[in-house]
Amino acid sequence: MRSDSSRCTIVLPVLNEESIIEKTTSELFAVFLGINMDILFVDDGSADSTWLKITELSRRNLQISGLRFSRNFGKESAMLAGVANARGDCVIVMDADLQHPPAAALEMFNIWKDGDSSIIEGVKIRRQDEGALKKFGAKAFYKILLVLSGIDLDNASDFKLIDRNAADIIMSMPERQTFFRAMSGWTGLKTDKVYFEAPSRAGGVTKFSVLKLAGMAVNSITAYTSLPMQLVTVTGLGFFMFAVIMSFQTLYMKLYGKAAGGFTTVIILLLLIGSILMISLGIIGIYISKIYNEVKFRPRYVLSETIGENPGMGKA
Ligand code: UDP
Ligand code: MG
Repeated sequence: MRSDSSRCTIVLPVLNEESIIEKTTSELFAVFLGINMDILFVDDGSADSTWLKITELSRRNLQISGLRFSRNFGKESAMLAGVANARGDCVIVMDADLQHPPAAALEMFNIWKDGDSSIIEGVKIRRQDEGALKKFGAKAFYKILLVLSGIDLDNASDFKLIDRNAADIIMSMPERQTFFRAMSGWTGLKTDKVYFEAPSRAGGVTKFSVLKLAGMAVNSITAYTSLPMQLVTVTGLGFFMFAVIMSFQTLYMKLYGKAAGGFTTVIILLLLIGSILMISLGIIGIYISKIYNEVKFRPRYVLSETIGENPGMGKA
């Protein structure tokens, strides 16, 4: 049981969402009526009038504040910036396009307030309005991640409530390339779930192309497991065994004067080994570039402006 006056900060990462900011804000206030709640927008380098809208809203309402990135740093950085600057006893991170229903956010808050969980995960039960390719891609990606790292993220989303304790732990994770939806699970803190259906976007268009999603998939797999690199070694061992057998066969042929021919085998082996070597180097390359980016230890984002009372100008 938490105190009835517990404050909740709702973090909304936004990129070019001028068409829906007002609608989302008023829906949130309507649903959270009578609850000590405030909204923190994180403008992830929008090129439209998103920031202007946030400033106007914030001037009219003390419960609304905003952080503005100097450029687009990505949704991951935006969510973490929100969590780092939220002042509430709990933080709800959700998409600004109403695909994460405010009613489900309220349910999260109530479960958190009446129980003793640190984290309430939003679990998506159906994907409407998503292209077949994206749906297939998401399924395949989660399967690969499950096999490689044992983390089951199918239907997991960035929609979640985390309390102060969980937020502090997440903020203390030093990695620069983050995967927000898996970080809360990693903490192992007591977790509850809220199921929600994602309606179609309230307006505007999606900010994630299939290409961007594929990049994200590679990033999150490499952030969570080094198994692909170990697979390289395993493949190498497999090929070595194959090579030993082939060597015996070749020697046998040679000794009994049956050599010659076998040109096809040589070509196929060359091509196969060549491509496996390249892929392996590529996998190692991805990890090296990740390490390179991590050791640079640059800030996750740069703020250019803030508005409202909420921003604690915390660092993430
Ligand atoms: N978003 C962001 N930075 C980005 C891409 C997206 O802050 O680089 C925000 C976006 O404004 C929205 C949320 O992340 O509030 C989810 O994005 P979107 O709805 O486009 O993703 P989808 O629902 O299509 O997966
Ligand atoms: Mg969306």
